[in-house]
Amino acid sequence: MTHERRPSIPRPGITDDNRFFWEGLRRRELRLQRCAACHRLQHPPLPMCPACHGLEMESVRASGRGTVHSYVVAEHPAIPPFSYPNVIVLVELEEGTRLVSRLVGVDPEAVTIGMPVTADFEDVADDLTLHVFRPADGGPDA
Ligand SMILES: [Zn+2]
Repeated sequence: MTHERRPSIPRPGITDDNRFFWEGLRRRELRLQRCAACHRLQHPPLPMCPACHGLEMESVRASGRGTVHSYVVAEHPAIPPFSYPNVIVLVELEEGTRLVSRLVGVDPEAVTIGMPVTADFEDVADDLTLHVFRPADGGPDA
């Protein structure tokens, strides 16, 4: 796979706490951190569980399904290499935690709170894959 080289894209700060998340994206998996003791999900990953102060963390694969909890349409200033208008969403995942992402494949004026969305993946460099969300086909799950 070849990619146009875009050195200006911001790189994530990868740590021992969040490496599973970025490696999951490379495999096109959206993974969430879960406390091994109390099973609380949290994102972004933390070294300690804020609920029980547990230090042992595991991760689970999210379905990628969720709804738009909140969003903002960024139009100005346009910062390369991102495309504008850039719809930034806070997604309420069906697992019960939230994640900031970009919403693509939708007219920014058609975005609504509660809109069903599903995760997708964008390879932005040979060694970096980002998550994005798209409107879910077929509307809300039955
Ligand atoms: Zn815990």
